Amino acid sequence: MSQPDTLVAQTRLTLERIARDFSPAVFASSLAAEDMVLTDLILKARLPIGIFSLETGRLHPETLAMLDQVKERYSYEIALYRPQPEAVDAYVAAHGLNGFYDSVELRRECCRIRKVEPLSRALFGNKAWVTGQRRAQSSTRSSLLVEEDDPAHFMTKFNPLADWSEQDIWDYIRANNVPYNELHDQGYPSIGCAPCTRAIQPGEDVRAGRWWWENPESKECGLHLVDGKLIRIKSVAA
Ligand code: SF4
Repeated sequence: MSQPDTLVAQTRLTLERIARDFSPAVFASSLAAEDMVLTDLILKARLPIGIFSLETGRLHPETLAMLDQVKERYSYEIALYRPQPEAVDAYVAAHGLNGFYDSVELRRECCRIRKVEPLSRALFGNKAWVTGQRRAQSSTRSSLLVEEDDPAHFMTKFNPLADWSEQDIWDYIRANNVPYNELHDQGYPSIGCAPCTRAIQPGEDVRAGRWWWENPESKECGLHLVDGKLIRIKSVAA
């Protein structure tokens, strides 16, 4: 078995174990390339792992188009979790639609409203959740484990692609003709909300296009632990 085949086989085993031993479990898909690999593995094997996305209200049209592509390809409708409208309205009234450019605190507050709170709702009642995070993606993910405790959500978190390289992801996508976000072909290796994501130049870090105006250490949205520590998101007074 080649190295890529071994990786795929190990990932299948991890997903099967999650479905068997951690039911109910859910997969949080950002609809990016990594997440499409997991979507393909989960849906082809018909594993009972629910798939959802956080529809922040600020996603690119190309990202939203992936919802239809998944439906067409796998006959599966990804569940969507949206922010509380009152919280979004209050933030916009106090700080402006794009107030997140003004400070790390305001950026994290926007992520808390549009991502962290909806994530908590999506995870509620489950035993485990699955992400498409990889160790090689950034300095904040260098110690990522395949399986870890998530004390913030009182459940187990799985990162089945933790060992995969960028090349492994694209080899799988091409070999299996998996649909992917067309922004990846336009210089976006990592895709988040439209106003907080830009294309990168060859040689730049794959996460360089995310919150590019901030220091690398602050570049997480509060959905994940970093090096075993919860990235605290303080509420910003309106
Ligand atoms: S990525 Fe940007 S727009 Fe999206 S929730 Fe975070 S700060 Fe808000």
